[in-house]
Amino acid sequence: MHKVVIIGSGCAGWTAALYTARAQLAPIVFTGIQPGGLLTTTSIVENFPGFPEGVDGYELMTRMQKQAERFGTKASFGTVESVDFSKRPFSIIVDGEKVIAETVIIATGASHKHLGVPGEDLLETKGVTYCATCDGALPVFRNQPLVVIGGGDSACEEALYLTRFGSTVYLVHRRDSLRASKIMAERVHAHKTIKPIWDSAVTEILDVKQDKVTGVKLKNLKTGVESILDCAGVFIAIGHGPNTEIFKGQIETDANGFVIRKEGSMTSVPGVFVAGDCADNVYRQAITAAGAGCAAAIDAERFLAAENE
Ligand code: NAP
Repeated sequence: MHKVVIIGSGCAGWTAALYTARAQLAPIVFTGIQPGGLLTTTSIVENFPGFPEGVDGYELMTRMQKQAERFGTKASFGTVESVDFSKRPFSIIVDGEKVIAETVIIATGASHKHLGVPGEDLLETKGVTYCATCDGALPVFRNQPLVVIGGGDSACEEALYLTRFGSTVYLVHRRDSLRASKIMAERVHAHKTIKPIWDSAVTEILDVKQDKVTGVKLKNLKTGVESILDCAGVFIAIGHGPNTEIFKGQIETDANGFVIRKEGSMTSVPGVFVAGDCADNVYRQAITAAGAGCAAAIDAERFLAAENE
C-alpha cells in the first residue's frame, strides 16, 4: 500500500511529489500519457520565477521530475483508468493493475478544448493541430498562410511562434480585443506577419474531400458575412478543460468538471487532495499549479500525521 499516490505529472504533480518525498512518504507519481503535462509542449516559459532568461517547458518539467526523484519519488509511466474513493484505503486501477493508497493527490491538469466545427476531427494531424511548438515546423506549414484561433495567451504564443514558419499568420478571434496578457497582446499587435481577424468565427475547416487543410470558412459575427480564407494549417488555442472524467461520481466537481476544493486542497473525500489546473479555472499558471502542489502535499502529510497520532 502506498502512503501517497499522485495522479499527474505536471507542475502540480511533481511539486506535490517533491514535498511528500522530502516528508519521507515515498510518493508514487502516475505520469499519464503525457509525462510533464501541457508545459512540455510550450517553447519558452518566461514567467516561472528563477529563470530570468526563460526556460524551455520540457526542460523545466524534466528538472522538476529529477528534483522529486532525488528525494525518493517513484515515477511510473502509467495511466489511471478508474478510481474507487468510496472507502479507505482507496483503490486505483492503473493500466489494468490495482494500486492501493492511503491518500491521493489529484493533479491531472487540463487538455486543449476542441472547437467542434465540421472538418476539425477529420483533419486532425492533416493540418489541424492544438500545438504550434509540436507541429509548427512541419514542412507542410513552411511559407504557407496559417490560421490561429483564439484570443488568449495561448493563441498569442502560438501565433508568435508560427511567424518563424508561415508566410502570414492569421489570428482569428471572436471578439475585437485580446484576452491575453498585455505583454503578449502588444507583441502580437507589433508583429507584421500576424494579421488579426476580429469578431469572427471559424465555422468549418476545409477540405475533408482532399484529406488536408486548404482553408477555413469564416463568419463575421457582427455583419454575418461569410468568407473563405486559404491556409495550410489551423492551430486551435481556445483554452482548456479539466482532465477529471475518471473522477466523475467519486468527488465533487463543478458544472465544467473542475474539482471543487473544500478546506485548503481537500476535496469532498477526506484523504483525497487536489492541485493545479484540474481545480483551477482562474489562475492556471505553472507557478500557481506548483504552489498548489506544495499545498496538497502539506495537507496530505498533516492528514496522515493526524491519523497516526
Ligand atoms: P484562455 O485564456 O481561456 O483563452 C481562450 C481564448 O479562446 C479566449 O480568447 C476565448 O475567447 C477563445 N475561445 C474560447 N472558446 C472559444 C470558441 N468556442 N470559439 C472561439 N474562441 C473561443 O485560454 P489560454 O489562452 O489557453 O490560457 C489559459 C491560461 O494559461 C491563462 O491563464 C493564460 O494566462 C495562461 N497562459 C499563459 C501563457 C504565458 O504567460 N506565456 C501562455 C499560455 C497560457 P473570449 O476571449 O471571447 O472568451
